[in-house]
Amino acid sequence: MRFVIAMMKHETNTFSPVRTDWRRFLDWGAHFGAAARRAYEGTAMPFGAYLKLAREAGAEVVTPVAAEAMPSGPVEKAAYETLTNAILDAVRKGCDAAFLDLHGAMVAETTPDGEGTLLEAIRAIAPDLPIAVTCDLHANLTEKMVRNSTALIGYKTYPHVDMEEVGGQVGRILLRALKGEIRPVMGWDRRPLLAQTLRMGTDDEPMKSLIRMAREEEARGMLAATVFGGFPLADFADAGMSAICVSDGDAATATAAARRLMDAAWAEREEFLYRHEPLTQAVARAKAIAQGPVLLLDHADNVGSGGTEDVMTVIAEVLRQGLEDVAVAAVCDPAAVAAMAKAGVGQTVTLRLGGRTDMPSIKMRGEPLEITGKVRTLTDGEWVVRGPMYTGVTVRMGPTAVLDTGKMQIVVVSRHHEPWDTGVFTSVGIDPAAKRYLLLKSRIHYRAGFAPLGRATLTLDGEGVTTSDNSRLEFRQIRRPIFPLDRLNAPPEKR
Ligand SMILES: [Zn+2]
Repeated sequence: MRFVIAMMKHETNTFSPVRTDWRRFLDWGAHFGAAARRAYEGTAMPFGAYLKLAREAGAEVVTPVAAEAMPSGPVEKAAYETLTNAILDAVRKGCDAAFLDLHGAMVAETTPDGEGTLLEAIRAIAPDLPIAVTCDLHANLTEKMVRNSTALIGYKTYPHVDMEEVGGQVGRILLRALKGEIRPVMGWDRRPLLAQTLRMGTDDEPMKSLIRMAREEEARGMLAATVFGGFPLADFADAGMSAICVSDGDAATATAAARRLMDAAWAEREEFLYRHEPLTQAVARAKAIAQGPVLLLDHADNVGSGGTEDVMTVIAEVLRQGLEDVAVAAVCDPAAVAAMAKAGVGQTVTLRLGGRTDMPSIKMRGEPLEITGKVRTLTDGEWVVRGPMYTGVTVRMGPTAVLDTGKMQIVVVSRHHEPWDTGVFTSVGIDPAAKRYLLLKSRIHYRAGFAPLGRATLTLDGEGVTTSDNSRLEFRQIRRPIFPLDRLNAPPEKR
């Protein structure tokens, strides 16, 4: 047996001004052939789980590509073609099954449904090919994705700490199908519901109960049951929440189970909306908390959802109110890092930090903040994740420096990186557990590494292209009506 195992991942924020060219994939990790296998073998990724299953099955393995870019704007044509052509060429050479590690919210310049278009092209080459697919919890599921795969599953955790487990689950479903033991069929459903990612944490309601319901469906016999929170920063017709279930041979029960999950999600729709608080008030509340570490989330500039990671609004307010003993992860500003490297460790510098990127979609210009501080640390920005998310994967933040103002230590990086693991601090000599405040440009993924440290957590409503304020965003392509852009009491459609 010959298996094609491939990874193609990107969460596209159509409002993000950050370019998604091939370079951006190389920055996080883009590997072909044997190098793809070497990069992800033994990691806690679906790709790693697929490799393990294929080895146990004694299959010949072809790994055409394993590539991921951090969230940003639409994927450029050339990059999308590089990824998909590698996979299609491998399928064209002949295989018995494909195991794909995808995201599910990729918008490319040439197609708004990056994954559906890929899967459709695979099926055009090999109409009956068994295909297993893992998607992120933030996938925007489409008809094309469902129609052109055999078994599709998503993560049940946010932060995503079950990537390997979910890859193993869907991989085993496909292996059993190949042996003729089961016949996977899928049913799916959705509601016009654009939930906000800040309200999708699976330790919080309402996601916690929805995930429990999905597990109950599995306990009652569904091979896999998934609730997708969806990715709301995508002006794309199919954006929003959905559910998909895989049954052994009974499409009607799969559809009924997916419908139950979506009925429950719809009933809780108000709970998927984030409630805002003025920034000055939230920072003042933080200042009054004595016991640290206090986690301060600059969620509107969350690089892990396509943020530019250089909006200085929240940092400026925290400095203005004089909070002390603050560590920040991170500001992306390669020029500032270069200036600090030139000055050298121990030198005092005055920088215009951040604000390098204009954000036309929210009518904002990049605004740097003048800061004076000491260059505390210089590193190459490379470290290996030891925490529960992306375990074993090497992070490359690019040349990195710590600017120390006395009250605040700012990790300044050259490549976008969402702080979900304590390595972002420990790799530059900061002990996060010893700080009173950790200011993180993150939304939910920070929980993977930082929830065990945080004594309190506050969301600080700054600015940026990952805002939870829908009034800042202009949706043109998304299907209407959709809640909460339109105040709906009943869903006008079943799917
Ligand atoms: Zn996600």
